[in-house]
Amino acid sequence: MNDQCDIVIIGGGPVGLALALALRGSGLTVHVLEARSPEGAASDPRALALSYGSRLLLDRLGVWQDIEQVSGIRTIHVSQKGALGRAVLCASELDVSELGYVLPYPALHHALQQALQASDITYLTAAAVTQLQSEANGAHISYQHGGTDHILTARLAVVADGGKLLEASHPFKVTEYGQSAVITHITCQYPKPDTAFERFTSQGPVALLPYMDGYELVWTADHEQAQQMLQWDDATFLAQLHAHFGDRVGNFTGVGKRSCFPLRLRRAPDTTLPHTVLLGNAAQTLHPVAGQGFNMGVRDAWELAQVILNCTPDALGAEAMLADYRKSRRLDRNAGIRFTDGLVRMFSNDLPLLSSGRAASLSVLDCLPFAKKFVAKRMMFGANG
Ligand SMILES: Cc1cc2nc3c(=O)[nH]c(=O)nc-3n(C[C@H](O)[C@H](O)[C@H](O)COP(=O)(O)OP(=O)(O)OC[C@H]3O[C@@H](n4cnc5c(N)ncnc54)[C@H](O)[C@@H]3O)c2cc1C
Repeated sequence: MNDQCDIVIIGGGPVGLALALALRGSGLTVHVLEARSPEGAASDPRALALSYGSRLLLDRLGVWQDIEQVSGIRTIHVSQKGALGRAVLCASELDVSELGYVLPYPALHHALQQALQASDITYLTAAAVTQLQSEANGAHISYQHGGTDHILTARLAVVADGGKLLEASHPFKVTEYGQSAVITHITCQYPKPDTAFERFTSQGPVALLPYMDGYELVWTADHEQAQQMLQWDDATFLAQLHAHFGDRVGNFTGVGKRSCFPLRLRRAPDTTLPHTVLLGNAAQTLHPVAGQGFNMGVRDAWELAQVILNCTPDALGAEAMLADYRKSRRLDRNAGIRFTDGLVRMFSNDLPLLSSGRAASLSVLDCLPFAKKFVAKRMMFGANG
């Protein structure tokens, strides 16, 4: 079977679904091909910290009010273990109601999926793309669905698959951090509602994101240590976390199911190929230290939708349109990658000189309102503002 359409979105993760929703009602024929079943995302253990800017975009997509189980972040406390210096960012100082939000990946995915199922977009689940050929006359997408092989030809293919499909054929630049993140839900003695903690340690950052009765924990360590952390019994895990994080929320009292993700920076040198755009994690996979991955991906999706909606019908997928997209994302993308990578490199070590420099930077950030506003604005809205 060989079909044609205007746009094929490969991957119905949160970024691919956000793009599809932004194209609703455009008159373009859009197909989303998602490998998982409709319930497949329900078991994804990740919690996401969403920026205020992402909330505004999800509002524009009409899904924000349908996301269940969201907790707000009004204060972010940044510190480093074993050294002076800390910075506190508060929503009230920055004239916003919240700095960000914490929610489970499945809750976000569910709301996006529900909205898409009620739209004019063709959304196929259990449809795994096996090959993409980006050619001068269009993109040819091979996929399997219902036990049959299919081919779709599109004027524009959008790769939003998280990064696997082109892994072998595209010259991605990869920086291995040698770290994994152990994630889980924890409860503690003295939770501070609405306050997120980011603590830098020589083994990597540890983040506590306020969620419901406790925190979503992101604890980074080298790969071997992270594997050991998965094996610890609950009491050992909670005691070790207390020793590592310190006393800011008292003793840790409960821990949920633990999962582990290896971390690296993987970026495509070019986010376009003929008749093809790479989006979200497929374009750049970031360390979660600053919670930027989805936030950057949804800005990718929004900008791409604007470029598509503003181009003339015959320009869809043409080089001029692709160049407009690259230009619109260059500054924000490069700044986000540099910011995240810089944080990991600067803070994941215990060199005395760097430690003093970090202490000074955090104190300066804490004391200078304009510096705080600059950093907070970047984290909330990206470099394009
Ligand atoms: C531990 C951890 C914590 C994180 N915390 C944050 C945070 O606090 N804030 C934040 O903004 N980001 C965070 N991130 C990053 C965030 O999870 C990603 O940036 C985001 O999920 C990217 O969305 P995506 O849609 O691009 O890719 P994905 O979420 O990976 O979705 C890709 C989709 O494509 C589908 N797919 C894959 N291959 C195929 C194929 N061949 N055919 C069809 N479909 C396919 C998959 O089934 C999936 O549904 C974190 C990441 C990790 C690992």
